[in-house]
Amino acid sequence: MESCLFCRITKKELPSKVAYEDDQVVAFHDINPQAPVHVLICPRKHIATLNDVTTEDERLLAHMFATARKIAQDLGVAQKGYRTVFNVNAEAGQTVFHLHLHVIGGRRLSWP
Ligand code: 5GP
Ligand code: ZN
Repeated sequence: MESCLFCRITKKELPSKVAYEDDQVVAFHDINPQAPVHVLICPRKHIATLNDVTTEDERLLAHMFATARKIAQDLGVAQKGYRTVFNVNAEAGQTVFHLHLHVIGGRRLSWP
């Protein structure tokens, strides 16, 4: 997926402000943050949407949520509150078709 924006970011072909990374994921600050804390957790593996996750990716998904919890703690929003979001396809507003978990916090969030 040479043309995929988030593949290029996770491979460091494009710059980003990295909040956390390991062998499975790269988490970086959103370029257009919707709250004081807005981090995107991306798997290094290209997966287009949550619909494309397979059973072999289940541990990766669990790891993405564990990473969200760690980032919320590191950035000081774990106790006050934060939100994790997968936007899936057009009607949910997905614009980048490389799986990413939003971690949003640092202000009172409205719903939905
Ligand atoms: P989606 O709408 O697909 O769930 O979320 C995509 C997110 O990626 C948006 O919040 C958008 O601001 C962010 N984004 C788009 N392009 C870039 C980029 O080049 N760098 C970073 N750091 N974030 C990006
Ligand atoms: Zn990709």
